[in-house]
Amino acid sequence: MIGLIFDMDGVIYRGSRPVDGARELIEFLKERGIPFIFLTNNSTRDPAMYREKLLSMGIDVPEEVIITSGLATRLYMEKHFEPGKIFVIGGDGLRREMERLGWGVVGLEEARNGGWREVEYVVVGLDPGLTYEKLKYGTLAIRNGAKFIGTNPDTTYPAEEGIYPGAGAIIAALKASTDEEPLIIGKPNEPAYEVAKERLSKLGKVDEIWMVGDRLDTDIAFAKRFGMKALMVLTGVSNPKDVEETGIRPDLILPSVKELLNYLKTLVEASE
Ligand SMILES: [Mg+2]
Repeated sequence: MIGLIFDMDGVIYRGSRPVDGARELIEFLKERGIPFIFLTNNSTRDPAMYREKLLSMGIDVPEEVIITSGLATRLYMEKHFEPGKIFVIGGDGLRREMERLGWGVVGLEEARNGGWREVEYVVVGLDPGLTYEKLKYGTLAIRNGAKFIGTNPDTTYPAEEGIYPGAGAIIAALKASTDEEPLIIGKPNEPAYEVAKERLSKLGKVDEIWMVGDRLDTDIAFAKRFGMKALMVLTGVSNPKDVEETGIRPDLILPSVKELLNYLKTLVEASE
C-alpha cells in the first residue's frame, strides 16, 4: 500500500487558510484507510497545537499523525542518546517536547547560576523570544562539550511582512560562535526520515511512500534522497522555474492537493 507524508504550510494551508481541496483529500484518505502523516519542520508548536489548528479549518485528524521537528527531535534523542540535561533555544512547542523526555531542562535562571556547566544537549529551533543571553549560554554549554542539535535547517520562512529568519539562522549563529557542526533533525535529513517512516509503518503496511511538499530544498530533496516518490504542489514556496534552477526534480508537479485528490481517486478506482 502507498503511504503519504504531507508537509503542512504551503500544502495543506497557507497561514490560517486551508488550501482548496485539502479537507476533501484528508477525508478521502481516512475513508479508504490509506496511511498518511503530516511532517513539518516547524518546532514552535507541538502536535496537540497543530491538531487544533487543523481542526479550526475543518480537518479532523488524530494527534498521532502529526510530526513536528520538535517531536522528531524528542523521538530521535530518546532512541539514540543517553539521558542528560538539556538547554533549549526554541519556542514553547520545542520546550514541551524536551520536558517530555524527562531528562531535565535547564532554564535561563538555572543557567545564570552556573547550570550551563551541567548541560549535555543544546537543542536549537526557531525561537521567537531569542536573546543574546540564550545564545551566550548555548555557546558556553557547547564549548563545554554539550552536543549541539538543531531541529531543522530552514534559514528563512515566509510570513505576513515578508521573509523572516528561521531556525537555521539561529543555528548558524551558534555554529559561528562554537565552530561546531550540529546534528540537524528535520527534512531533508535522515533523522526525520527515520521517525516519519516508523510512524507511518504503525498506521498500515506501507511499501511505497509519497512525499507531498511545496519546497524543493527540504521536501522534494528529502523525497529524492530517501527513495520516496516526490510530489510537488505549487501552493507554497517553490515554483517550476526553481526546478530548472536547482536541478532538484520532483517526480510529479501538481497545481495543488485538489488535483492530487483527483489523481489518487483515479488510481484507486483503477485498482478496484
Ligand atoms: Mg511548506
